Amino acid sequence: MFNRILIANRGEIALRIIRACRELGIECVCVYSTADAGAPYLQYADRSVCIGPGPANKSYLDIARIISAAEQSGADAIHPGYGFLSENAHFAEVCGDCGIEFIGPSPEAMGKLGDKIEAKKLAREAKVPVFPGSEDAVETEDEAIAEADKIGYPVIIKAAAGGGGRGMRIARTKEELISGVSRASQEAEAAFGNGAVYIEKFLEAARHVEVQVIGDKHGSAVHLFERDCSIQRRHQKLIEEAPAPGLDQRRKDDVCKRAAALIRKAKYHGAATVEFLVDEKQNFYMLEVNTRLQVEHPVTEMITGVDIVKTMIRVAAGEPLPFKQRDIKRNGHAMECRINAEDPDRNFMPSPGEIERFDPPGGPGVRMDTHCVAGYRVPPNYDSMIGKLIVHDDDRNACMNRMARALQELKVEPIATTTPLQLRLMSNAAFRKGGVDIHFLERLLKS
Ligand code: ADP
Repeated sequence: MFNRILIANRGEIALRIIRACRELGIECVCVYSTADAGAPYLQYADRSVCIGPGPANKSYLDIARIISAAEQSGADAIHPGYGFLSENAHFAEVCGDCGIEFIGPSPEAMGKLGDKIEAKKLAREAKVPVFPGSEDAVETEDEAIAEADKIGYPVIIKAAAGGGGRGMRIARTKEELISGVSRASQEAEAAFGNGAVYIEKFLEAARHVEVQVIGDKHGSAVHLFERDCSIQRRHQKLIEEAPAPGLDQRRKDDVCKRAAALIRKAKYHGAATVEFLVDEKQNFYMLEVNTRLQVEHPVTEMITGVDIVKTMIRVAAGEPLPFKQRDIKRNGHAMECRINAEDPDRNFMPSPGEIERFDPPGGPGVRMDTHCVAGYRVPPNYDSMIGKLIVHDDDRNACMNRMARALQELKVEPIATTTPLQLRLMSNAAFRKGGVDIHFLERLLKS
């Protein structure tokens, strides 16, 4: 097992990893930028090291500074959290070259599954359902037209190296396709240094369902069931839950098994999420594989009792998975609200600044993952998530009642947060019923 882990992240996820380290008896070192200097969560680490100024490219994204902090502090492993360098295969490689274990997949497995065209090829081999569409990058106009005719319009043009919703374009006609392919390719080249694009069927209404998987270095991979993350705004998830409501159990189980098989096939170790869109007929189509810990991992922890962060650390240290597939049981229902410092009444404008009052909720089945306390100043430099409120109960209905109660207890003042919107959603008839699609929230906000 590791002696000392460096956490290459900030905020709530840094604290989540600190907690896992402490419970495992591993020392942890936190890095921070000057914008996070003095943040209360840093006191829980054994040591913290300033790695640069506020802008992320000069601190949390600066590989040289992070590696030198790890070397100076004698860390033998780095946990990247999510975002920042977590899906950067070059960073994983540099860690390896410096004799520091990257807590995540090998750079090869990350590279393979992080490239959407490659991931889709592997998925086909593992019999994971994918969207109808091109098997390779489309290179010429004629190729694109022939492919789109085969699939049928509308189609979506996507960058192999895409991420964060960038480098995508919908084409409803041949004309849109022709201009879209060259533009998407140019954009992808500029943004990701890789201009490869492919096309697939575009689904108008769909739900977002994803499967949590974890693999070890001994060829074993287990799934931890699925999550539904259809409550989104501009591709940003706002509420997640597990299990996914209103879907046929056998179909879900089948997709979960195949997702685990895909991870095994990629010789992948660590946590991964296989994301799908699901149409009205409950057909699953793989979107992509996220090769990191997800923000929404706690809902899976709540229904399975598996500590995903500790398990990631164990498998990175070479231990075999401590459970087999048949040991993983689902229990009850869990839901997470991402609490963002944004004003839903003012088009989700970020609302950084000092939090004067901070009362987290408590009571049975309530978990609040946050780095905030009263007196904490939310810096304007990073994403606006200030915490995650997760609740668990016997069934979905009870879980939503509990979430409403917990949201009412949560007091964050005077900055604006997404809480009032999430509270309204808990009594929205369509969401209560379950099975809303990924455009539901934006439709609701418009009306
Ligand atoms: P990124 O890596 O940029 O997040 P994804 O492949 O995960 O890209 O897609 C992001 C979002 O774009 C999805 O959550 C979905 O809303 C939409 N999308 C992507 N592919 C399709 C598709 N084939 N049909 C409909 N919507 C899609």
